[in-house]
Amino acid sequence: AVKPGSTILASKISKEYVDEITKKVHDMKDIRPDGPLLVGFLANDDPAAEMYATWTKKTSESMGFRYELRRVEEKDFLEEAIIEANRDDSVDGIMVYYPVFGNAQDQYLQQVVSREKDVEGLNHVYYQNMYHNVRYLDENKQQKSILPCTPLAIVKILESLQIYNRLLPEGNRLYGKKCVVVNRSEIVGRPLAALLANDGAIVYSIDVNNIQKFTRGEGLKFIKHHVEDLGDYTEELMKECCSDADVIVTGVPSAKYKFPTEYIKEGAACINFSSEKNFDDSVKTKASLYVPMTGKVTISMLLRNMLRLIDNSEKLKKG
Ligand code: NAD
Repeated sequence: AVKPGSTILASKISKEYVDEITKKVHDMKDIRPDGPLLVGFLANDDPAAEMYATWTKKTSESMGFRYELRRVEEKDFLEEAIIEANRDDSVDGIMVYYPVFGNAQDQYLQQVVSREKDVEGLNHVYYQNMYHNVRYLDENKQQKSILPCTPLAIVKILESLQIYNRLLPEGNRLYGKKCVVVNRSEIVGRPLAALLANDGAIVYSIDVNNIQKFTRGEGLKFIKHHVEDLGDYTEELMKECCSDADVIVTGVPSAKYKFPTEYIKEGAACINFSSEKNFDDSVKTKASLYVPMTGKVTISMLLRNMLRLIDNSEKLKKG
């Protein structure tokens, strides 16, 4: 029998954004004749970070950006190097390949990157706006706030898979959809759960310790999401949350972890953003749409954020 679902690759989803971004870069030749400059800081010897850097370079240059990888041998010099790039008018965007120290010092470094050049969208102001469902930086709604690029990539993937219903008003397009997110890191899982809930979904956020529910309440009565603790992590509770989930997103950083295929509702959309394969091949017997990796969409969102930062700064200059 023909398999009922389809596997959708991130390259296909990112195509639309690649075209849009390439055109915008071309159209800003008057203000950035050589293309906007993105600087990436690599201060670890993680092969995954190295590969991500290679991909960022290749992708950004193919769309007309300039990309410069700055290797910092001594981790303790990274902060100074970031500050120098903050001050340098020729640099439009800055990103850092984490983990650097692998502890709270990394969160400090995220705040060292100037808000105006933070392509990853990790600045506290952007996070607070996202958690509070505030979409602009200014009262006149001229400058759009920046979203963290991996959660944003997953939102864009869900739009592309038509899980977002365009017949509904913007901001409510996930009304009634049930989503499971297996990861609650501050970089991806928690902001993602908040974004989906802010758009109207009921989100079960699962991590190794417990399970939480993010929603805007009955009839979407709240303007931003609220969080409810459902209890400690147990297989039973997770199975129950998945039983009627329309969307399952995984981000478990372990090669051994496999999401149990039997928990997936027939016809659910399954998306994995972990660098490890969190679903085994049997996912294809249950999922309607399966997206095995998301990195390419993330890089597109990073570059899209960079154009938005340039746009915001141009608007500020004009006043
Ligand atoms: P992290 O270690 O900070 O967080 C992992 C999360 O998964 C935690 O919330 C943890 O509780 C949860 N978890 C771990 N094991 C679990 C289990 N058995 N059941 C339920 N929950 C479990 O990692 P991170 O920074 O969020 O990154 C996660 C993965 O995503 C990594 O593989 C990373 O490389 C990848 N990543 C991908 C992109 C992309 O664009 N595709 C971007 C960032 C990170």
